[in-house]
Amino acid sequence: MTFPINADSPVAYPGPPPQEADVVIVGGGVVGIMSALFLARAGRRPVVIEKGRVAGEQSSRNWGWIRAQGRDWGELPFAMDAKGLWAEIAVECDVDIGFRQTGVTYLARSEKAMQRYAEWQARAVDEGLDCTVLRRAGIDALMPDAQGDWVGGIHTASDCRAEPWVAVPAVARLACRDGARIVENCAVRGLDVEGGRVAGVVTEAGRIKSRSVVVSGGAWSRLLLQRHGVTIPQLAVRSSVVATKALPQVFEGQATDDRVAFRRRADGGYTLASGGRNELFVGRDAFASVGAYLPALRQEPFGTTLLPNAPTGFPDAWGTPRTWALDGPSPFERHRVLNPKPSMRRVTKALRAFEQTFPQISQAEAKAAWAGMIDTMPDFVPVIDEAANLPGLVVATGLSGHGFGIGPAFGKAVAAILCDTPPDHSLSRFRIDRFARPLELGPTL
Ligand SMILES: Cc1cc2nc3c(=O)[nH]c(=O)nc-3n(C[C@H](O)[C@H](O)[C@H](O)COP(=O)(O)OP(=O)(O)OC[C@H]3O[C@@H](n4cnc5c(N)ncnc54)[C@H](O)[C@@H]3O)c2cc1C
Repeated sequence: MTFPINADSPVAYPGPPPQEADVVIVGGGVVGIMSALFLARAGRRPVVIEKGRVAGEQSSRNWGWIRAQGRDWGELPFAMDAKGLWAEIAVECDVDIGFRQTGVTYLARSEKAMQRYAEWQARAVDEGLDCTVLRRAGIDALMPDAQGDWVGGIHTASDCRAEPWVAVPAVARLACRDGARIVENCAVRGLDVEGGRVAGVVTEAGRIKSRSVVVSGGAWSRLLLQRHGVTIPQLAVRSSVVATKALPQVFEGQATDDRVAFRRRADGGYTLASGGRNELFVGRDAFASVGAYLPALRQEPFGTTLLPNAPTGFPDAWGTPRTWALDGPSPFERHRVLNPKPSMRRVTKALRAFEQTFPQISQAEAKAAWAGMIDTMPDFVPVIDEAANLPGLVVATGLSGHGFGIGPAFGKAVAAILCDTPPDHSLSRFRIDRFARPLELGPTL
């Protein structure tokens, strides 16, 4: 299997872009597409401008977990709502997006890990989540075919999953049905700013006039924003994934310990990733952000493997320009789809750890392996906010490895900001100006 969405995939939304729109959304990942859906449903005319393909980057490459378990406290109410929103959206889609409520389980191999999980669980229950603590016997009952030296874990039965590369394109079609427009293969080179406020965007296919622009460009957002004086300490880390061929069902849900994460896919295979460290390609932005990431580094000093050079054209590659003219090619159209090579060492580790966990699978064969660049923030929560220094600009990025699941709830929040209606929950945790103060780290489970 080659990865389903890449730079050679057919263009489903060829354009040309309109000359004017109520809202321009930069980026056709889950955040941009969900924002378009909720804006269209609120009677606005949004247009999503995507440099590559809808869901070509993180939004198709993820594991497909839709979880509230383990979330930051500011995100938890959104994550809980998101499950219900996904359930409603799934029914409206024109294909089965694989939405299933199969639960998420975190498995602890040490009492220390168990204590962290149990502390999180106690508060989450107070916040209304159906998360339970499992001791060893509970794990054996939940996963009778599994073997491991777990002391316990936590389990949220209401957590869900879906098939990302089917789901996000299906929601894109739904958004178009409801009045949104999408243009693929069209990079936004920069914002059009007049009189100190946003007046639209400049794309490779011309200007689009609009008084509202949403930047939901995933790992590219920092590069675009900093050209216009909006600074966020966003970085991107590589994460490798392997999909097995179809296997007998050994476990129906999603689970992880510190060695391997696994979940069953709709096609009968398992999607796996090895646990442990993130991989960061060090570039100029990484150097510039060391201070912002110090609290996270102190909390988990060995959590990240540093790699010397990002591949050519990546947002934080040494050769990627930080300034460019809007009437010539920008870094965004030079690199249509971020498609990092997976770490085969991590892929093999994940396969072997899965086989050890389920010994009745003597050999888990890979059907495909890929990687994605996860955009992350120093406190592992996104920015969902208006830019104070640039009226008309809404930033919705930095989903820090969990945007697929929470996507509908943040898309709805973006629509609320632009429609000037109260969001369903407080967005204060996601403000841009929080980086000017000492950072509050979330539970990062
Ligand atoms: C391996 C992996 C596993 C993950 N597992 C999970 C999981 O199980 N559950 C979960 O909830 N989350 C998971 N995530 C995280 C989740 O996928 C992301 O948080 C989410 O997809 C981010 O969505 P997004 O729309 O912000 O960004 P993206 O999906 O990255 O989309 C951004 C889009 O913007 C476009 N773009 C950027 N700049 C421009 C420009 N100037 N002009 C036009 N277009 C532009 C890009 O081409 C891209 O398509 C995982 C991520 C990875 C990589």
